[in-house]
Amino acid sequence: MDRRTFLQLLFAGCTLPVTRLVLANTAEQVRGAVLRQAAEGTTLLLDLSGPIPARTFTLEAPPRLVLDLQGAGLATSLDGLALKGTPIKAIRSAATADGGLRIVLDLRSPGISGELQTLARGRQLALRLGGLPVAAAVPTGKAVGNRAPPQGRDLLIVIDAGHGGKDPGAVGSGGEQEKLVALAIARLLARRIDAQKGFKARLVRNQDVFIPLRKRAEMAQRLNADLFISVHADAAPRRTASGASVFALSEHGATSAVARWMAQRENDADFVGVSSVLKKPPKDPVVAGVLLDMSMNATISTSLDLGHSVLGQLEGVAGLHQARVEQAGFAVLKSPSVPSILVETGFMSNARDCQRLQDPRHQRKVAEAIFAGLDKHFRRRAPDGSYLAALAAYRLAEPGAQG
Ligand SMILES: [Zn+2]
Repeated sequence: MDRRTFLQLLFAGCTLPVTRLVLANTAEQVRGAVLRQAAEGTTLLLDLSGPIPARTFTLEAPPRLVLDLQGAGLATSLDGLALKGTPIKAIRSAATADGGLRIVLDLRSPGISGELQTLARGRQLALRLGGLPVAAAVPTGKAVGNRAPPQGRDLLIVIDAGHGGKDPGAVGSGGEQEKLVALAIARLLARRIDAQKGFKARLVRNQDVFIPLRKRAEMAQRLNADLFISVHADAAPRRTASGASVFALSEHGATSAVARWMAQRENDADFVGVSSVLKKPPKDPVVAGVLLDMSMNATISTSLDLGHSVLGQLEGVAGLHQARVEQAGFAVLKSPSVPSILVETGFMSNARDCQRLQDPRHQRKVAEAIFAGLDKHFRRRAPDGSYLAALAAYRLAEPGAQG
């Protein structure tokens, strides 16, 4: 079938009532469908807004042919397709739980298989019934479904080692400096991330240098990172305080408090007034400052989910200071873009924490735990277009995996 025939058929289909079943957050849409019955067989041809990973398989009793389209919505109706004279008794469709589209062809007889072919650089998808060749179809794209290797962009994680240069951060009783612990763990984390397919890391600082707070979160914003993670080690007047904590931002919280804090900040560069903004203010004024900067660009629910995931992994390695992700009560001042969390890896002011935070083996375990937490999160909620999203779709398409 040539392009013109396709469009004519598509146009004819448009005169029928169109049910719009457009799903939220679906990257691509099935815009049109035609059924072609020819001597060489029956073909369901879908017009797509863009390439959609797809797979097909058969089910018996009653005989059905299933077409799964990953991350796709239906922006047309399948009701008007002429089924007379085809092996198809009925066509149904439904949105799948994972945000995809499933089209089911009820078949008149068993033993009919389906074969997929992408055409027009992924703008068309042909489902050929009975294993006969698609007539007049010129394959211009790669085959999809379980034969196409997953492809997508790497997730970019911007890692911020707290403090640096003239700012040592928290200092242990033996003169141990938070800025060095943070840098060591941040480097190990970056190395771990870079070693994982589908991930890429960028360090805000890779040396003992001072970088203004504002520039740190800005870097994540500029690079359009998938996550900004700030690594710190706490200090508390109470020497027994120990373990890790994770901060994210909360939506509730007072705009007025932020305004008050901002005003105070203008008057006092030493972050006086932080305690009036934070429900549980971090002891470290720099931490409070980082949190405030994060509030400018935080995607809160994602940050919270990430925080929980990381905290869960840190528990066995560092112990927890707070069993829940702590939320600083800032209003979001800008449109959300980069999910951000702040990890306190332990207390410099606690003798045991401080000692093991100097230990490269412990540092590696902490970095590994942070990575495991974010890896778990991103595998569950792979951003659109990422390698991890493609991988998830690919695995779903493996034989035996049912969506
Ligand atoms: Zn710190």
